[in-house]
Amino acid sequence: MQVIVAGAGIGGLTVALALHASGHEVTVFEAASSILALGVGINLLPNAVEVLGELGLAEALLAQGVATREIVYFNRFGQRIWGEPRGRFAGHAAPQISLHRGALQGVLLDAAVERLGPDRVICDRRFSGHEEGGGRVVARFLDRAGAARTVDADLLICADGIHSAARAALYPDEGPPMYGGHLLWRATTLAAPFLTGASMIIAGHQDQKFVAYPISPPGPDGRQRINWATDLAVARNLRREDWNRPGDPADFLSRFEDWRFGWLDVSGLVRDAEAIYEFPLVDRDPLPRWSHGRMTLLGDAAHPMYPNGSNGATQAILDARALVRALAAHADPVEALAAYEAERLPATAAIVAANRRNGPEHCLQVAYERAPGGFDRIEDVFAPGELEAMSAHYKVLSGLQRASEPLGR
Ligand SMILES: Cc1cc2nc3c(=O)[nH]c(=O)nc-3n(C[C@H](O)[C@H](O)[C@H](O)COP(=O)(O)OP(=O)(O)OC[C@H]3O[C@@H](n4cnc5c(N)ncnc54)[C@H](O)[C@@H]3O)c2cc1C
Repeated sequence: MQVIVAGAGIGGLTVALALHASGHEVTVFEAASSILALGVGINLLPNAVEVLGELGLAEALLAQGVATREIVYFNRFGQRIWGEPRGRFAGHAAPQISLHRGALQGVLLDAAVERLGPDRVICDRRFSGHEEGGGRVVARFLDRAGAARTVDADLLICADGIHSAARAALYPDEGPPMYGGHLLWRATTLAAPFLTGASMIIAGHQDQKFVAYPISPPGPDGRQRINWATDLAVARNLRREDWNRPGDPADFLSRFEDWRFGWLDVSGLVRDAEAIYEFPLVDRDPLPRWSHGRMTLLGDAAHPMYPNGSNGATQAILDARALVRALAAHADPVEALAAYEAERLPATAAIVAANRRNGPEHCLQVAYERAPGGFDRIEDVFAPGELEAMSAHYKVLSGLQRASEPLGR
């Protein structure tokens, strides 16, 4: 089958590679005039790494990132609330990989250019609409000069991200992404390893949080690239969300200056940052439908979600696998896209909803509400089994664990 993919982000490139591996003829159209290594850190949960492993890319990704060993939650005094192993360290077949988004996109892009062919990833083509008729779909694109281009195929997959033009055409009254009342400043800093050197930490509570995890192996000087993010409740956001908007430490550093944990120098990481980006916490309500005849949505275009739980890239990759499997199982592509939606829309809608309730970080908020000034023993704050149950609930939702499996520790 001939397939058009709009958007050469994480989801678009993955679905293109997976479709190609199943024998389809795929062309990817990207709005940007070139694909640059943009962004900061991103996480691939083991179920996504499995999909990328089936495409032969897991080793290349691991070489560029870190096999995350554990996730640990602390209060703002650095007192440990809960921790659990991750990826292979938690018994999964595949690792969790933390890496630079640009490195992830670069591995996917190189593979796409090599496997699909150099003229099958086309930049400077902004998707602007589509029509269907006679068993074909015709997609319209605009180039930088505003000239219109049309391409026809059997299927159209729109993976055009948080500001999806495809979604806006289907749902013209939806408006911009919904602000969740928080601003995030994301950055990377070259610094000494902390804890295990492969630990992800989240400290604070719902309205003031610090997240940090390494995204590269140590260099010759022993330093690692540490991805970090600060998250503050800010009542109003007047700016359109832009992944490349520079952030200013003056907007948040004073709120974290006394966060000294001994093993992590929060203000040092901020002061030495290579680049800081500001991005609001945004998502959208789940849609009633993604698939319309021979076109469908995938990734952030279909289900933008808050970043807590590290599920943005992972769920886009799981979409890609579900879509390709549906095409293999249904001779009629319209039925296949409907089956893909039936599997993935409810699953991702549940994660969007859970992330609005703090996702896996719920334990931070509960600890804060019960012990705002800190605690001597975590057992005084949580009942036996309570923390395990919170963690397991989210893992089941995000497809990392079946409901009957044993939990973290
Ligand atoms: C520049 C950038 C930086 C990011 N940085 C981070 C980060 O540091 N950490 C993190 O967790 N997440 C980041 N993300 C988001 C993250 O990649 C996604 O949440 C997740 O991986 C899901 O991927 P996706 O393919 O659905 O969306 P994306 O990865 O956002 O990809 C969407 C792609 O579609 C392209 N596009 C947009 N409109 C059109 C159009 N009309 N026609 C054709 N192409 C179009 C975009 O240029 C982009 O390449 C970033 C996204 C972008 C675009």
